[in-house]
Amino acid sequence: MIEVHSKLPASGVTIFSTMTAMAQRLNALNLSQGFPDFAAPPALLEALNQASLAGHNQYAPGDGILALREQLALQFMQRDQLNLDPATEITITPGATIGIFCTIQAIVHAGDEVIVFDPSYDSYAPSIALVGGKAIHIPLQAPDFSVDWNRVQHAINHKTRMVIVNTPHNPTGALWSKQDWQTLIALIQDKNIVVLSDEVYEHLVFDGRKHISALSFPELRSRSVVVGSFGKTFHVTGWKTGYCIAAPALMTLFRQIYQFANFCGVTPVQIALAQYMQQHPEHIQGLAAFYQQKRDLFLAGIATSKFQAIPSQGTYFQSLDYSQIRPDLDDVAMCQYLAEQHKIVAIPVSAFYCEPPQHAGLIRFCFAKQEQTLIRAGEILSAI
Ligand code: PMP
Ligand code: GLN
Repeated sequence: MIEVHSKLPASGVTIFSTMTAMAQRLNALNLSQGFPDFAAPPALLEALNQASLAGHNQYAPGDGILALREQLALQFMQRDQLNLDPATEITITPGATIGIFCTIQAIVHAGDEVIVFDPSYDSYAPSIALVGGKAIHIPLQAPDFSVDWNRVQHAINHKTRMVIVNTPHNPTGALWSKQDWQTLIALIQDKNIVVLSDEVYEHLVFDGRKHISALSFPELRSRSVVVGSFGKTFHVTGWKTGYCIAAPALMTLFRQIYQFANFCGVTPVQIALAQYMQQHPEHIQGLAAFYQQKRDLFLAGIATSKFQAIPSQGTYFQSLDYSQIRPDLDDVAMCQYLAEQHKIVAIPVSAFYCEPPQHAGLIRFCFAKQEQTLIRAGEILSAI
């Protein structure tokens, strides 16, 4: 018998895989894991087809196809008036998850501390644990999931090496304001602390709000790594293609690790994305309105139900408070109940916490769905 020990003994199968499997098993409406149930733009699918048929099927450059990096540089120039060098500051990765993983591998050493705001995306804490780092979990404050800056100030010490920010925020839909960023800058600017800013929902911001990237602050320019995901932006989560942006010194450290973790992303996907971005700038320009309409349709569907919602400010997630329906159930049991008894599957927000949350039970629904799915979801939830 061989003897091997788990490096993540407390981790089971992720909540996203678990809930999607539950939806399939029960043949239930799946609003749990975040992915669209509608097709990507036909021109993008055609571009992938063409890129593959044209023979772009061998390794891409490790840092990514230059044309795609140039499209990203253009986006940051237009949105944030930021001058990025595609050659030295942008790397295309097979999804944001590996970008997050490699950034932590590159920056955090054993014994270092990393500040993480809970609820937090499930890959952060295991990635920190695998380098022997220590995640310092600071809960966000319900109901608006704002940062308790006093706690952040007290958590920072000489071991703090990184702060992980996620805006727009999964699962709560909260956005960081300019004031949030400025407070963070004041706390870290004279310290050896890197910001890992997970901005995968950068284009999904509602009600006229603006996404504010870490890179838009000159004070953070040389100490931040920004991670993005084409999967969210172009309705192709299964293409697992994302990016990392950082100033050259940090990017060099990142690439040192990434070249051995994956070497490069998928070639025809990158070519297709570059071509589509160049030919269809209207896709990104219309994305906020496109998803705001879906959020509003979902909220209208539950308006007369006993669920309560604070409208999501960004992402494609909406959390609901179910305390008027089943105050006796915790959020995991509530999701189980909804799946088994009502054939609709959500994600328990407690799965994003290291300690059980203090706020009322919340469950997260993904509204990246066709109209008919959202209408059906409203009907089911209103009948409970
Ligand atoms: N960060 C957050 C906050 C996410 O919601 C996701 C989506 N799963 C990711 C990172 C990972 O993105 P990708 O699928 O591109 O790896
Ligand atoms: N980010 C997606 C979510 O929050 C899922 C990603 C995954 O399945 N790992 O639902």
